[in-house]
Amino acid sequence: MNGEIVVAPFVCNDDGCDCDHVHQGIVSHGYSTQAEVSEVATSPDGLVLACRSHLDFSQWAAIVDNPAELDMLAADLIDAMGETANHHPIGTVLRMMFDHRASRWRYTTVT
Ligand SMILES: [Zn+2]
Repeated sequence: MNGEIVVAPFVCNDDGCDCDHVHQGIVSHGYSTQAEVSEVATSPDGLVLACRSHLDFSQWAAIVDNPAELDMLAADLIDAMGETANHHPIGTVLRMMFDHRASRWRYTTVT
């Protein structure tokens, strides 16, 4: 969805699965291969809450048993997005790719 906040999805180990180069919208739960850095009117707490409710509809809910872990995960995911966005000017379009070896997401500038 346009303007929607995206966060990193759960990444599996399957070869040829697309989960390692997409992020997931926290409202639509849809996948996107690109994200645009933008100013957000919602408070960080509001974003974490929205992300937390998204997680219930995501792959994460199936693999994480403890709801408290999902709470922490929501905060971490939003944090990571804020951190990533801070490194780029508003309007920058990023492509994401999970670095399986380093076990972290990497972002490259598209425009
Ligand atoms: Zn996968």
